[in-house]
Amino acid sequence: MDKAETGQLTENLQQIGEALDQYLRYDHPDAMHPSANWQAILNEAVPTHGAGLEQVVSLLKEQIIPNGSAVSKPTFTSYITTGGTTAATLAATAANIASPQRYMKTAFNFLEGLSLEWLAQMFGLKGMKGLYSSGGSVANLVAIGGARQHAFEQIGIDPAVQGVSRSVVIYASTECHHTIQRAAGVLGLGRQCVKGIEVDAAGRLNFSVLKSTLEQDIADGKLPIAIVANVGTTNRGAIDPIKEMGQLAKANNIWFHIDGAYGLPGVLDERLADKYDGLEYADSVIVDPHKWLGAAIGIGATFVKDRGYLERAFTQEPADYLEGSIDQSLATSNAEPPKVEHSLDDFGVPYFDYGVELSSPSRGVVVWAMLKEIGVEGMRARIKRHNDMATEIAERIDAHTNLELLGQPELSICCFRYTSPEIDDLDAFNQQLHRQLVRGNVHLPSTTRVNGALAIRPCFIGARTRLEHARALVDAVLATGDAMVAKFRV
Ligand SMILES: *Cc1c(COP(=O)(O)O)cnc(C)c1O
Repeated sequence: MDKAETGQLTENLQQIGEALDQYLRYDHPDAMHPSANWQAILNEAVPTHGAGLEQVVSLLKEQIIPNGSAVSKPTFTSYITTGGTTAATLAATAANIASPQRYMKTAFNFLEGLSLEWLAQMFGLKGMKGLYSSGGSVANLVAIGGARQHAFEQIGIDPAVQGVSRSVVIYASTECHHTIQRAAGVLGLGRQCVKGIEVDAAGRLNFSVLKSTLEQDIADGKLPIAIVANVGTTNRGAIDPIKEMGQLAKANNIWFHIDGAYGLPGVLDERLADKYDGLEYADSVIVDPHKWLGAAIGIGATFVKDRGYLERAFTQEPADYLEGSIDQSLATSNAEPPKVEHSLDDFGVPYFDYGVELSSPSRGVVVWAMLKEIGVEGMRARIKRHNDMATEIAERIDAHTNLELLGQPELSICCFRYTSPEIDDLDAFNQQLHRQLVRGNVHLPSTTRVNGALAIRPCFIGARTRLEHARALVDAVLATGDAMVAKFRV
């Protein structure tokens, strides 16, 4: 008899569910509140005999869940991250038990493919095939791996087999996510191969600089690997001129990658359709279902036009213990479709050959659950609500003498600061204002720099976040700033 309990889920999930619902009321203090003593309770040497499941559930309920993070809170607008919705959480839990791997012919494996098709349909990614991974970091790595394969195959080298010995260039704006540089490093291209193309005042890549830089590099005999565009930069939500960039890439037979980890769902807002014109030029596109779509954390997706590049870049050599164990007669059978009689007869789509993960959770069921619950129109309503929130507070900020808008929002990020003629150092003042807001533990935006100025930067993506939360954040910035200025006077 194993010591671990392995079956009584009903009662235990009930208890954890109650603790989580309680957590979502956010009437507990922050994990770092002065009287918190969970660290003292949890910090012990590895237990020799174990305390039993009851103890585990009770510590989860009493010490761990209440001292979790603020990410799911409706007033949390830092970075680009949010808590999963109920459907996402339930589906992820179901997958943990009922399909711990995405491979094998199960309902979960089927939904892996179906949900990727749904995402492609919803976002208008015509003819593209998808692959899930842990998030935007790996999704970008996989896409750039495809680009590397494409570029080197043109010159008769298989980079996955032979490695790379030639210096190359990847073009991306100076505002691109740093996972592009990291991907270049991991893929042996070197981080320095990412050429940062300058952006305009709105944070969008300057197309004429890209064009002239590329032409010069080609004339100098350099090997371009990819042109990378942002639809929604992490910093400000800026959308690069993807149509021109895509046409330039096609004209030069260069892989065109679009990083839409945050902003691809913005295509659902019809008012922004023009900005997304050019998606069709992409060889690869990424999106993070765990951002705007509200998936449980750990779900990114890469879409590509030609999966062959991914397969040659990332395939594992076949193994006796893996491929060797499935029904080989199916592979050679002429029956259409091959006759699979047991879920273990076949692996289904070999996703493990298109990316860097073999073992992987079934993520498709989570995306399926979210879309099945609210549909494309439910997602569209969310995206538009958040974009409206950024636009509405931007108008108010622009009109207020003590607030300064640091750029018109393109999506759901709004950068601004408190200002007054009495303040000498606006950066230091706003930094301090932000710290005070966070200590207040209600409104939790992050900060960034916009054209050099320190900005308060709410990013609205949470399913739980509503217009009144955005309005109240602006009220709180004003009240905090006013009180700080009043202190100068005494
Ligand atoms: C968040 C983000 C990433 C990285 O995604 P993770 O899911 O955090 O790994 C990459 N690109 C952009 C534009 C992002 O906003």
